[in-house]
Amino acid sequence: MDVARFRQYHLPHTKHGTPMDWTRPTEATCANCGHTFKVDPKGRVPLFCRPACRSIHFDKNKRDVRPTAEERQRRLIWSVLQDAGLIPADKPLPPRREAAA
Ligand SMILES: [Zn+2]
Repeated sequence: MDVARFRQYHLPHTKHGTPMDWTRPTEATCANCGHTFKVDPKGRVPLFCRPACRSIHFDKNKRDVRPTAEERQRRLIWSVLQDAGLIPADKPLPPRREAAA
């Protein structure tokens, strides 16, 4: 998200002189899709045009999730099998199979 835009919308009292210098925007640009949308006269100025855009934006910018212990073990075993020459070294780790019911 653009820092200048964030300040303009959410921290109007910090970088824009006196509080009254700031006028509430009637329109805003979505931080995800870039569409312009109307802003309600009351409440916080939204960053996204719709909830789906909000969700997509945070999913896209999610930091790497730590692999589970099981996943780390799978990777370790795979590398051991590759080191032992049982599996070609360039063969990628296959996706996890679902447990049999
Ligand atoms: Zn959007």
